[in-house]
Amino acid sequence: MAKSRGTKREMMQCDFCGATADEVQFILPGMNACICNDCVERAHEILQEYMPQKGVASDIKLKELPKPADIKAYLDQYVIGQDEAKKYLSVAVYNHYKRLAQSHNDDVEIEKSNIIIVGPTGTGKTLLARTIAKLLKVPFAIVDATVLTEAGYVGEDIESLLTRLLAACDYNVAEAERGIVFIDEIDKIARKGDNPSITRDVSGEGVQQGLLKLLEGSIVNVPPQGGRKHPEQKMIAVDTKNILFICGGAFEGIERKIALRMNTHVVGYGSSSARVSREERERLLRYVAPQDLRAYGLIPEIVGRLPVLTNLEPLDRNALRNILTEPKNSIVKQYVKLLGMDNVKLEIDDDVLDYIVDKAIEFKLGARGLRSIFETIMMQAMFEVPSSGAKVFHLTREYATKQLEASMFDAVAMANASGE
Ligand code: ADP
Repeated sequence: MAKSRGTKREMMQCDFCGATADEVQFILPGMNACICNDCVERAHEILQEYMPQKGVASDIKLKELPKPADIKAYLDQYVIGQDEAKKYLSVAVYNHYKRLAQSHNDDVEIEKSNIIIVGPTGTGKTLLARTIAKLLKVPFAIVDATVLTEAGYVGEDIESLLTRLLAACDYNVAEAERGIVFIDEIDKIARKGDNPSITRDVSGEGVQQGLLKLLEGSIVNVPPQGGRKHPEQKMIAVDTKNILFICGGAFEGIERKIALRMNTHVVGYGSSSARVSREERERLLRYVAPQDLRAYGLIPEIVGRLPVLTNLEPLDRNALRNILTEPKNSIVKQYVKLLGMDNVKLEIDDDVLDYIVDKAIEFKLGARGLRSIFETIMMQAMFEVPSSGAKVFHLTREYATKQLEASMFDAVAMANASGE
């Protein structure tokens, strides 16, 4: 080996790359070897990449993190009801931190537990995900499964799910690799029928196979701009091993599968038509099990990779009423604030809130409708009050009814409700 170390600076040579003193900025002499500034930098980068795998403590410090009960208490401030799902989510997030904090030399490797939340639309799946994101110490992204299609078809490649996550942490790959992804509307990629050969199921099984790769943990090439991959694009390699996936879906009609399964279980033979009333349907959702997801059209491997299954309850009158006023940023609190900024006090009669809930139920709009009904009612007041000089705005049921009836809301909502 051509080592030339001498007392003179120009005679020194890097023992790693062979550069001489006049080829680099600085050469650091050691006991029996020298190293140049370029090699120090490169060694630092390599260490950064590999150190965690060698058992160096990660920067997640469990003691400083919120405990599951703290996470749930935080969710309680924004999301009404859904206690069970909140507990599952809190535990899953906490365990995710534990995994990240675990020394890599540990014999007992904690496996990740991806989650699937089943619940009717508008009951708070996305809200839960959004709220928890605010509290998290790791990057978080919400993505929609509906845009995904199998490679080669119009739509987005499955890897684009990770683009948002990368964007959430300024394309810092190491950070993204320990993040959490919420995949909404996972039910939309369920296999459409039992016989996929009749028409090609471009957004079904093929997409599920792709998703499986991500859930299992593998290194995937992510297009930095999302969408469809193309050959000229520079890809970012992301390892999904430590990414936690939370999936949500309405799984409309899954009650029939549950009813069928439970019937089979109790009576001992299957009934071909499980007729289910509305109340029963809501009750049945509580018993959703992995085999129902399979019967619905998710492939067994995907179901196996989503070991934590929980459900959201349909929202009853009481819950809807509470959603109007209780959450920290409830619609009522927001309007009190808006008018307060004009020094106007907003007073709302109790029966106005009952009226809004009645209308949301009548038009089958659920929690989503509460906001639009309230906004429609307040529209005229928001226009007039700031310039009227009034100090108080008193919202009565009579006023609310008049405003809603005067708007096109009734007609539009009615048409939507009957069109369902
Ligand atoms: P989905 O279950 O379809 O994802 P969302 O979470 O998007 O439903 O809910 C739609 C809207 O309805 C939310 O933005 C929120 O205003 C309201 N909402 C739904 N469920 C709840 C809940 N449990 N608590 C408070 N607000 C809720």
